Amino acid sequence: MTDVKRMRAVLLRMAALLRRSGHGGWAEALDQRRGELSRDALAAAAAIRSWYGGTGGLDRVALDRPDAEFEALRDELLFMCAPFPIDAPIPPLRRVEGTVMRLHCGRCAADFPGFAFADQAEPEADGLACAASREADELVLAEPEPEEQIAWQAGGDLRFARRLAAEYGRPDLRVQRRRERPADGRAGGVSLRRARPAAGASVFACVRCDGESRVVGELSVEEFEAAGGRVHTVGGLYR
Ligand SMILES: [Zn+2]
Repeated sequence: MTDVKRMRAVLLRMAALLRRSGHGGWAEALDQRRGELSRDALAAAAAIRSWYGGTGGLDRVALDRPDAEFEALRDELLFMCAPFPIDAPIPPLRRVEGTVMRLHCGRCAADFPGFAFADQAEPEADGLACAASREADELVLAEPEPEEQIAWQAGGDLRFARRLAAEYGRPDLRVQRRRERPADGRAGGVSLRRARPAAGASVFACVRCDGESRVVGELSVEEFEAAGGRVHTVGGLYR
């Protein structure tokens, strides 16, 4: 087991090539193992090794046309999943806890979920992030890479969101962002805002229109999932 990041990239690319050749079942299997890598990389590697050898094995799958890239990746994957030597430690997993927020956008009236990390007034500072789907009741909890965090804290470049889109094939994910609370009106001035948030209430950016969204409810992850929502953890996090 050498490099989980590389394994992820290899599995992603192989799945794309398999799908293109009509091997959707195999592609699905590769995706599943890729999802499992962050939770239990050793188990994922063992499962992948078991695909090799035998009549219905991954090493017997033939694409539409001979594909040197696919064959090289297939060999590399087996090599990376070899049980020995373990020459790079697998980074420790980090447990996340928290509750699901129900958010409502004051501009476009969208309702969408968010995540409040337990004991984290500013999860950004501690390298934790949540992304919500624009289309489904779904959350992804992740740890952005340091350089993604820097770009994200600067507020402009959403490299982290782009990676989620590329790595997981999910362009619908929007990274949860706090918005500055509306400025106080000048002394004696009249605020045109209908309602100012209570002190300490957080305002988030809407996943659809970027408008100000407020917390209208809070529930446990279990309650959220029982109601059809989904919470995924990726990249070294678990819950
Ligand atoms: Zn909105």
